Amino acid sequence: MLKIVSIPGDGIGPEVVASAVQILDVLAEKHDLDISIEEHLFGGASYDEHGEMLTDETLEACKNCDAVLLGAVGGPKWENLPHEKKPEAALLKIRKELGLFANLRPAKVYDALISASSLKPEILSGTDFMVIRELTGGIYFGQPRGYDDNKGWNTMVYEKYEVERIARLGFETAMKRKKQLVSIDKANVLECSQFWRNIVHEIHKEFPAVTLTDMYVDNAAMQIVRDPKQFDVIVTKNLFGDILSDISGMITGSLGMLPSASIGSKHALYEPIHGSAPDIAGQNKANPIATIGSVAMMFEHSFAMPHVAEEIYQAIETVLESGMRTADIANDGDNVVSTDEITDAISAGLEAS
Ligand code: NAD
Repeated sequence: MLKIVSIPGDGIGPEVVASAVQILDVLAEKHDLDISIEEHLFGGASYDEHGEMLTDETLEACKNCDAVLLGAVGGPKWENLPHEKKPEAALLKIRKELGLFANLRPAKVYDALISASSLKPEILSGTDFMVIRELTGGIYFGQPRGYDDNKGWNTMVYEKYEVERIARLGFETAMKRKKQLVSIDKANVLECSQFWRNIVHEIHKEFPAVTLTDMYVDNAAMQIVRDPKQFDVIVTKNLFGDILSDISGMITGSLGMLPSASIGSKHALYEPIHGSAPDIAGQNKANPIATIGSVAMMFEHSFAMPHVAEEIYQAIETVLESGMRTADIANDGDNVVSTDEITDAISAGLEAS
């Protein structure tokens, strides 16, 4: 049995998660899969009910399943709470408690949307790479940290095991793709980056079939917009990955299109990269494709069924090619449809394929 915990969250979260669950139901039927989906509260919805954003009950459920599907959390209603009670704190806590040390974000172009990118179609066409960002170490977590009236300071530090495990994930991911890994660092300036580079090269010995290239982060930022097709898999530390994964995502689509996976050694969580979009919540307008794409990543990474993932991507592509669009990705003259309508079309495509 594939045990999924779904946490819709706030704003458009429940709408896009409902779409993803519809897709899961179709796949269960089509492939005769035994999928159980248990829904739990998280974020503002949980705060309103229990006085906390993340209850022990939700956390336990997430620890006892095969994959977590998250919508989005937060919104104006909970913005003025003290920092430790805010949705962002709960997000950090759930990632930490589940040991999610890697964030995976695909930068994959849907041909039907290529004209919407800020890059020229001929530069973008055929782009398909994965950015793997280290998520629980580096300068965002290093001690000491702080500021006073005269200075501010943070510490970039990586332990050997932290670099080893993310490097291994990078090589393993490359093995499933075109066997090309680019490790991005700043080894010409930062000792911590030289250490990163040394360890990545050590781990490379376990994966001789993969071609490893080192790239400085400033060059990488330039290369991603100059010639994104050159990349297959990128692995990088927390700070650089934060920035590069946003650049990589946005050259290929809009917020409503971008899925993500956060992976640990025991647990995994899948979520769209967008927020709860309070401006369109409850209006049946949200684009569910990022969340449906997150389900595809779940089949790839947690369930080892890449063929099912491919079916989902294909069904999305077919619907986009038919001209159907939610408002966020529509141009003049496009057939603008609701969340439900585009979900039904993707479901129908999956059933028929
Ligand atoms: P946002 O991503 O929610 O929205 C930015 C803009 O993009 C809005 O105009 C919104 O309507 C649009 N948009 C986003 N997703 C869309 C979709 N699927 N379909 C159509 N349009 C979409 O970012 P924001 O407005 O900065 O944040 C809103 C709330 O979400 C805040 O409370 C923020 O803290 C929270 N947030 C949560 C997460 C998360 O849960 N991981 C991430 C980012 C922001």
